[in-house]
Amino acid sequence: MDEVEVKKTKLRVLLVEDNPVNQKLVERYLLKLGHQIDIADNGAIGLEFLAQKNYDVILMDIEMPVLNGIETTKKIVEIYSDNRPVIIAVTASILSAYKEICIQAGMDDYMEKPVSGEQLKVMFEKWSDKIIKRIDADYKK
Ligand SMILES: [Mg+2]
Repeated sequence: MDEVEVKKTKLRVLLVEDNPVNQKLVERYLLKLGHQIDIADNGAIGLEFLAQKNYDVILMDIEMPVLNGIETTKKIVEIYSDNRPVIIAVTASILSAYKEICIQAGMDDYMEKPVSGEQLKVMFEKWSDKIIKRIDADYKK
């Protein structure tokens, strides 16, 4: 699969986010881009979803009840190691010290709220190499 193909590929996206307004907003953008989306209200639910289904990308809120985005990402790394989906933090505060914490936890990138459809598209294209590698690996199973 090449980069052109990933632009046409229906990505399986897991949104881990507790805010209903943000959930709706991101869902609308992703569906408009032609992707598939599941929504988990917090990190613990997100981990349950991951155990049941393959995802290409995870959009991860940071502040959530039960299990926050940083702790959830650490658990994903612990369980799935390098076989994890691309994880992108979607957060309100993007202080540079905070970015470091996200990356150290195992996230690939970060976006500042509110995100736009165009920003999501650009982000998926930026990570298309890694996404493709994962999709190819899934297909080989
Ligand atoms: Mg939140």
